[in-house]
Amino acid sequence: MNTLEYKKPLPPITEQSRPFWQATRERRLQLPRCDHCGTFHTYFEPWCSQCGGEGVHWETLSGRGRIWANCRFHKHYFPGFDGPYNVAMVELEEGPRIMTNIVGTAHGTLDEIPIGMAVQAVFEDVNDTVTLVKFQPVEAPQP
Ligand SMILES: [Zn+2]
Repeated sequence: MNTLEYKKPLPPITEQSRPFWQATRERRLQLPRCDHCGTFHTYFEPWCSQCGGEGVHWETLSGRGRIWANCRFHKHYFPGFDGPYNVAMVELEEGPRIMTNIVGTAHGTLDEIPIGMAVQAVFEDVNDTVTLVKFQPVEAPQP
């Protein structure tokens, strides 16, 4: 991809989120995990909303999951997102759920990405510092 053409909003990389973005550059999905109760977090803060404890460490996840919820956006909410496009919540094998796009389908329609479908993380370099995590079906779509 020509990075000069990338028009979508980019995530801020902060001191707290940097390990996540460094891992995506290496094609790994990594999330913070509570030192006390073991809950994985999908936010980048050093405390736990589950047990109230302070302290997290980073762990690499399998990148495997299933579609937990899906929808298709037709309205343009953000620059560069030319619709329609899908938005999905993927429940990872290890438990946490993350918001994402499902790629690797013919049209990205909801019938191609049903709830419960097995998906796998894929990584998309959008510029010299940001690599986004998206998901694609584990099984190739039928022709
Ligand atoms: Zn905790």
